[in-house]
Amino acid sequence: MTESEEIVEIRRAVQALCAEFPGEYWRAKDAAREYPGEFVDALTRSGFLAALIPEEFGGSGLSLLAAAVIMEEIQAAGCNGASAHAQMYIMNTLLRYGSAEQKAKYLPGIASGELRLQAFGVSEPTSGTDTLSLRTVAVRDGDHYVVNGQKIWTSRAEHSDLMLLLARTTPRDQVASKTEGLSIFLVDMREVVGSGMTIKPIRTMMNHSTTEVFFDDMRIPASSLIGEEGKGFRYILSGMNAERILIAAECIGDAKWFIRKATDYAKERNVFGRAIGQNQGVQFPIARCYAQMRAAELMVHHAAEVYDRGGNPGEEANMAKMLASEASWAAADMCVQTHGGFGFAEEYDVERKFREARLYTVAPISTNLILSYISEHVLGLPRSY
Ligand SMILES: Cc1cc2nc3c(=O)[nH]c(=O)nc-3n(C[C@H](O)[C@H](O)[C@H](O)COP(=O)(O)OP(=O)(O)OC[C@H]3O[C@@H](n4cnc5c(N)ncnc54)[C@H](O)[C@@H]3O)c2cc1C
Repeated sequence: MTESEEIVEIRRAVQALCAEFPGEYWRAKDAAREYPGEFVDALTRSGFLAALIPEEFGGSGLSLLAAAVIMEEIQAAGCNGASAHAQMYIMNTLLRYGSAEQKAKYLPGIASGELRLQAFGVSEPTSGTDTLSLRTVAVRDGDHYVVNGQKIWTSRAEHSDLMLLLARTTPRDQVASKTEGLSIFLVDMREVVGSGMTIKPIRTMMNHSTTEVFFDDMRIPASSLIGEEGKGFRYILSGMNAERILIAAECIGDAKWFIRKATDYAKERNVFGRAIGQNQGVQFPIARCYAQMRAAELMVHHAAEVYDRGGNPGEEANMAKMLASEASWAAADMCVQTHGGFGFAEEYDVERKFREARLYTVAPISTNLILSYISEHVLGLPRSY
């Protein structure tokens, strides 16, 4: 695949930045469950996190393909883009549906790094994947909204200034279609943490800075509403293709890391007087993962290109996310197997990346829900839920 000079240059620049953050850095952060703030600051300073912000607001106005390549290279270098990826994909909602005032107020600060837009409050403990059943409510009160409810898995909330929040503004039994009555807010967290918003960290199997967020009569200005009241679900859906493509690109980067790591190790490790990689029983799983990764990579690039041409790549973005997350997980498992016992030793980074890579067949959307989308919306099979 021949890539444009711009893409090749982006790859080189991200690789150079990531080289400053080697395995030791990530291992220490992982052990302490600490946010990799230095890495996120470096990404911001370099302009990479503002790739999708138009130039008029201080960003670089790059394509989604370029943004996907940035995320891929971060993962392929052994770093963890989950510390910052939301800024890329949340951006889409603000860019597409935010008012001129909202864009002028927030985008330059986000582009410069003064403001972090890293928190995305959609998931709730009781509704799970069934987003339309969410229970957080926002009730209009003069020139404010009063928010009550709870979110879960709101990653990076402790390290973000802004949160994109999905809440119900009209009760479900008062709307014609169940997709209506939800609204999106851009919440300035600096004004509400400790006065209406409480954040509680959740410790997980990997270092992901995820949290539960509680809203208790949280008052936010009515100007926080993005677009029209009641249309929030539609806005969120339209941003999801970008999110899926970017996450899929991260999975491709992970798969590349695992494949390279396994290949190098298989060449170096000698058992029975020869390199383990001389055995086809060791070679074939690596080769199979490589083929699986390359096939998924084609779908990721194709989905990004459809998106960049202004199309609606619902089918392609979902398939890219499923295939890439499965390719990275297969490569993770293969990499542990290739390393034998050393796959479990922290200093090889394999076990850390293995834990990190496990997430993506579950979140931000699980494989079953993608299969359900393909069944219903692409193949025309009967709706199951
Ligand atoms: C580390 C981490 C970070 C996250 N970060 C964020 C974030 O920043 N913001 C945010 O809003 N959310 C976030 N999430 C939430 C994530 O998007 C959800 O966990 C994910 O979408 C799955 O939802 P759930 O956990 O409620 O699973 P459930 O909906 O309870 O589903 C459980 C299992 O059942 C399956 N299932 C459910 N319904 C069906 C069905 N009809 N047919 C077939 N199978 C079905 C699912 O595929 C899944 O495997 C994060 C999650 C994790 C673990």
